[in-house]
Amino acid sequence: MAFVSKRVQGLPPYLFSVIDEKKKRLHEKGMDIIDLGIGAPDLPTPDFIVERLTKELANPLNFKYSGYAGCQEFREAVALFYKNHYQVDLDPDTEILTLIGSKEGIAHIVPAMIDPGDVVLIPDPGYPVYHTAAYLSGGECVDLPLIPDQNYRPDYSKVSNQHKKQAKLMFLNYPGNPTAATVEINVLEEAVHFAKEHKIGIVHDSAYNLVTFDGYKAPSILQVPGAKEVAVEFGSLSKSFNMTGWRIGYVVGNRDIIRALSIVKSNTDTSQFLPIQKAAAEALKSDYTTVEQNNRIYHERREKVVEALRNIGIQVEKPRGSFFIWAPVPKGYSSQEFAEKVLEETGVIITPGNAFGRSGEGYFRIALTVPSARLTEAVERMKTLKLEVKANVSDS
Ligand SMILES: *Cc1c(COP(=O)(O)O)cnc(C)c1O
Repeated sequence: MAFVSKRVQGLPPYLFSVIDEKKKRLHEKGMDIIDLGIGAPDLPTPDFIVERLTKELANPLNFKYSGYAGCQEFREAVALFYKNHYQVDLDPDTEILTLIGSKEGIAHIVPAMIDPGDVVLIPDPGYPVYHTAAYLSGGECVDLPLIPDQNYRPDYSKVSNQHKKQAKLMFLNYPGNPTAATVEINVLEEAVHFAKEHKIGIVHDSAYNLVTFDGYKAPSILQVPGAKEVAVEFGSLSKSFNMTGWRIGYVVGNRDIIRALSIVKSNTDTSQFLPIQKAAAEALKSDYTTVEQNNRIYHERREKVVEALRNIGIQVEKPRGSFFIWAPVPKGYSSQEFAEKVLEETGVIITPGNAFGRSGEGYFRIALTVPSARLTEAVERMKTLKLEVKANVSDS
């Protein structure tokens, strides 16, 4: 392929392509498709945030470049959020950086922290972008297995001594995508301990930090004493304030990592449009009632879907965080087979778990991010699924 790097050519094939092809075919046949695959909020950005944006758009001073690190008001709002929610003190000048969405941060933090050939530990199953980012920076991707029976906490004993020695960076993500796993602070303490022992930098992705239910409050890794010596944490307004398209997030924590990332970024972008940063600051300085309203809606949807799945014999726990349901596929099906069956028989798209790594095989993911009426319709259709009991392939 002319003009295309071996790196890009070597990217894994698009796992959703089979489903996509089917979706197109069924849609052409006139089938009404409900997509529970896409994990992006369907709810609108709260009005007060849009109002602040509109106000800032009227000020021509906001049309200039932002400072590289992002504007002061946004970084101070992040510091205030950490102080109020986690009792963590942060210096807005050295420990906080504005990101153009946390995905941007994930892509750029890898070359800031590793050299080609260095090992990157990646949760399996996990958000696929960690793997791609590490791979594109020449890192050696090594699976960090998670333990399904223990809320998907990392199993460090499965990482070889050689890989522990070579690892420079470890990704973690709680509440987790795709697993919806939540943890108590002890799991993050253990991570910091492991990272210090083996001199590994931690990047904790807390994209779903505020999407929680049943009174659960997701901890920040920076609440672990001494965490700043080894860890940074990503946050995003995409999920908590329904701002996916705005592209705004932040990274906080270890100064050396933040400085290294700011060097990569200052040669790549010049931060986010100032009105967006200021509107996002408004969100972080708010009383978080809109976040609670969102969570009530996701909670209601969660109840509905969990009930429907249990009705057809799929045993699934109610997650305390994220807007995903992660469930085992019925016996005898692979993830891909089950996703295709659900789509063909009901017109509902679910994501096969193997899209999120080796250990995702045997599971599927449902996103609770479609309007409630559509979700009800999807659930009603799924209740009609006929699950044949097939011989379990993996038993043979
Ligand atoms: C959605 C998501 C992101 C991306 O968030 P942006 O800030 O919109 O880039 C990052 N990590 C995880 C785990 C996500 O699910």
